[in-house]
Amino acid sequence: MNDERCWEAVVNKDKGQDGQFVFGVITTGVYCRPSCPSRRPLRKNVRFYKFPAEAELDGLHPCRRCRPLVAVEVDPMSARIRSLCNYICRNSDGGDPLTLGQLSRHVGLSPFHLQRSFKAIVGVTPRQYVEACRLKAFKGQLRSRKSITEAIYEAGFGSSSRVYGRIDTRMGMTPTQYRAGGKDISISYVSVESPVGLMMVGATNRGLCFVQFGESQHELLEMLRKEYPAATLERMRQPYAEQFRLWMEALSRHLRGDQPRLDLPIDVRATAFQFKVWKYLQSIPYGEVQSYTEVARTIGRPAAARAVARACASNRVAIVIPCHRVIRGNGELGGYRWGLERKRVLIDRERAARAGTLSSS
Ligand SMILES: [Zn+2]
Repeated sequence: MNDERCWEAVVNKDKGQDGQFVFGVITTGVYCRPSCPSRRPLRKNVRFYKFPAEAELDGLHPCRRCRPLVAVEVDPMSARIRSLCNYICRNSDGGDPLTLGQLSRHVGLSPFHLQRSFKAIVGVTPRQYVEACRLKAFKGQLRSRKSITEAIYEAGFGSSSRVYGRIDTRMGMTPTQYRAGGKDISISYVSVESPVGLMMVGATNRGLCFVQFGESQHELLEMLRKEYPAATLERMRQPYAEQFRLWMEALSRHLRGDQPRLDLPIDVRATAFQFKVWKYLQSIPYGEVQSYTEVARTIGRPAAARAVARACASNRVAIVIPCHRVIRGNGELGGYRWGLERKRVLIDRERAARAGTLSSS
């Protein structure tokens, strides 16, 4: 999957690429095969997916004109697996997760055969798919109060196949995977100017472990050193390592307002409660805010609003874990580790960017 090449195929309405991928249009909520005869969408509104199932998990619907599913359903096995996908999605909002045994009985294949065919056709294992659907149903419940525009906006901004990434433990580095103070861990860091001031980004080879703001490089480096006293710190020089470069690009696109949903791996130490709060914060949509009490209630700990506030305050990965989206119930900003002024600016910028994106599309 190469975005440039996919886009080229869309521009040329390349029939030869039908069945190789589909593209979703976030402004219409529809996904198409490359050769779709409809008017060409703007590049910025297009997302590519290897499999239709991924587009559907992102909330997109098949286009009625080009019928993207027909291209992949010439094979009867594909049709069977696809109907199984629908079955999973319909039965994933509550109760126990579906087991491989149940699924194989439902579709009439042996567990082994099902596992293999499913992976080949959908791109993930049945279990991963079940989990993705459960997560989606869960998030759907959280968001049931939202307007349709917002729902489309939300659904459209998932980037290809990231929905699966979100379900494994992207921020779930367990405490035991870390030694005290980052011993035996090597952290690359760089400081860059951002729209909200000087920002230092630190990362291990597994994910971001430090995104913070400060007045000077010196101050930031001290903060990093204090956080990980035993780690080996190394300034990242240009050209950045590929992975690090991608993370930095995503961060700066996000800060510019060009990439509402940020879904980067995080490598931090935390308590189970902190993880729970931080993970939930990542599901608060771009440009929205919630109160500490709302967060506490939604994660099933209604009495823990103060603990939620503490978990926000102990965040070390600003922006990526968007603790700035949590404020007091009375509308006051509450606290922010990197200053209330910065929190205000972040919230305002997100609202403005979102309004701009929605009205120009
Ligand atoms: Zn179409």
